[in-house]
Amino acid sequence: MTDTGQGARIALVAHDAQKEAIVDWARQNRARLERFEICATGTTGGRLSDEAGLEVHRLLSGPLGGDAQLGAMIAEGRLAALFFFIDPLAAMPHDVDVKSLQRLATLYDIPLALNRATADAVLAHIVGGAD
Ligand code: PGA
Repeated sequence: MTDTGQGARIALVAHDAQKEAIVDWARQNRARLERFEICATGTTGGRLSDEAGLEVHRLLSGPLGGDAQLGAMIAEGRLAALFFFIDPLAAMPHDVDVKSLQRLATLYDIPLALNRATADAVLAHIVGGAD
């Protein structure tokens, strides 16, 4: 598995209906998240930076290629964990990209959290690895 130590790169993404939830989660976990280098898709990243005060490297917006950029990071061993708060109630035009991320995270054995409960568990796990 990719190194999850201090300074490892992690990514945060949320579909529109989940952006409030990921901002809230990031605010609550800010101290723990700050141990990592954080990437996020464009719109999610803007909100995490503005509303949760996190330093974020912003990629393209997800539907415009940001999800594909994350997929490349996983394939190249440059992502230690992915937190993707998905909208379970809507089909997305870029569902194929989301599915691709899930496939790559599975293939490369990257921790992948698709909801808040799993995000808590994954974050606790990687913070443990960063101590
Ligand atoms: P966004 O992308 O952060 O640019 O909205 C998220 C997504 O993949 O839908």
